[in-house]
Amino acid sequence: VATRVGIVGGGQLGRMLALAGKPLGITCTVIDPAPDAGAAIAAKHIVAAFDDIDALGQLADQSDVVTFEFENVPAPALEAIARRTKIAPPASALEVSQDRLTEKQLFESIGVATAPHAAVSSQSELEDAAAALGLPAILKTRTLGYDGKGQTRVESESGLHHAWEIVGEAPSILEAVVDFRRELSVIAARSASGEIAIYPLTENVHRAGILRRSTAPAPDVSDAVRATARDYVTRLLEALDYVGVLALELFDTTEGLVANEFAPRVHNSGHWTIDAAPTSQFENHLRAVLGMPLGATEPATPCVMLNLIGGAPDAGAVNAVPGAHLHMYDKQPRPGRKIGHITVTAIDGDGDAEDALAPALAVLEPLVADAAR
Ligand code: AMP
Repeated sequence: VATRVGIVGGGQLGRMLALAGKPLGITCTVIDPAPDAGAAIAAKHIVAAFDDIDALGQLADQSDVVTFEFENVPAPALEAIARRTKIAPPASALEVSQDRLTEKQLFESIGVATAPHAAVSSQSELEDAAAALGLPAILKTRTLGYDGKGQTRVESESGLHHAWEIVGEAPSILEAVVDFRRELSVIAARSASGEIAIYPLTENVHRAGILRRSTAPAPDVSDAVRATARDYVTRLLEALDYVGVLALELFDTTEGLVANEFAPRVHNSGHWTIDAAPTSQFENHLRAVLGMPLGATEPATPCVMLNLIGGAPDAGAVNAVPGAHLHMYDKQPRPGRKIGHITVTAIDGDGDAEDALAPALAVLEPLVADAAR
C-alpha cells in the first residue's frame, strides 16, 4: 500500500500531519525553505523554495501522493508535481480557493448561501458596487488575503477612495457585511472512493483577524443548522471532486448559515480533533490522500482549543489543569505569531459542555492571555 506522503510546507500543519502519520507507518517528506521548519522533527525535509522546480520534482519522486499545508501554491509548482506523482486535493480546488471571486461563484453555483458581492477592478467599479450593495461593506483583494489581511471595511462613500488604496488597487471584491451571531466552521474529509467523514460544527472566536478560540461541538446548534452545514460541505467536496480534508468557514445568522470561504487543507479550527476526536483531522487527511478508509469523527467529549499567540504559558501550569493538552510548534515567539495551542477536554463526559469546561478555562484563559505579547 502507498505510505509515502509529500507535503508542500513544513510549518505546524505539516508537522501535525507528519506526527499523525508516524504511528500509522506513514512517512512524510516536507519541502520548506526554512532550515528549522517545525515539521522536520517528524518528516524528511527538503530545504528549498516552493518555486524550486527541481526540488519539487525530488519531493514528487519520493512520494506516492503530494499534498499541501497552504493553499497559495503557485500553479507552476502544482504542475511540476502533478507531472510526476498524484496530488491531493486536486489543483483545481486550490485554484478556486486562491481567488475569492471564483470561490464565491462556486458557492453560488452549488446552492451554498454566501454574502452578496461584486467584482471590483477600478475605483469607479468600486463606486458602482457600493451603490448596488449598500454600505457598510467589506473590500477584499481577490487573491493572497489571509488572517484578515488584504481587506478593509468601508463605512461610507467618503471612505471608498481610501479603501481602494488600502487594498492596493488590486482586483478585489466588495462584499455586503453579514450580520452574524457567531462564526462556525465545518471540517470534512473525502476519499477518492467518494467516502465522506464530517466533524461536528465548531464555534470560532477571532480577534484582530486571528483565530483565538474554538469550541467543539459548537453549542446550541439546531438540527436544521447541523443538516445545512453537512449538506453545504458535502456539496462542496463533491463539486470539487475533492480528496483530503477541507474546512468550510460559515457565518451563523438568523436567516441560516452563510459561507465565508473554504480552506483546501487541514485547518486551525480542527486542531481540537487531535485530543477529542477518535480520528484527528490530520490522520483523516492522510487516510484520504492515501486511499485508506476514513476514521470516525464524533468527539467523545466537548472541548475548547485556545491558540497560543505571541507567547506561551509555562508548561507546568498548563499541565496542572485536568484535561488540558499542550501542543507547542517549536516556533520563536513573535507578536501575532501562532506558536502553539492548548486543547482542554471535559474530564466528565456527561452534562453541559460549558459547565464541564468552565473550571479549566477559568485557569487557562488568563494564563494564555498573560503569555500573549
Ligand atoms: P476572511 O479573510 O474572509 O476570513 O475574513 C476575516 C474575518 O472578517 C472573518 O472571520 C469575519 O470575522 C470577518 N468578515 C469577513 N467577511 C465578512 C462579511 N462579509 N461580513 C461580516 N464579517 C466578515
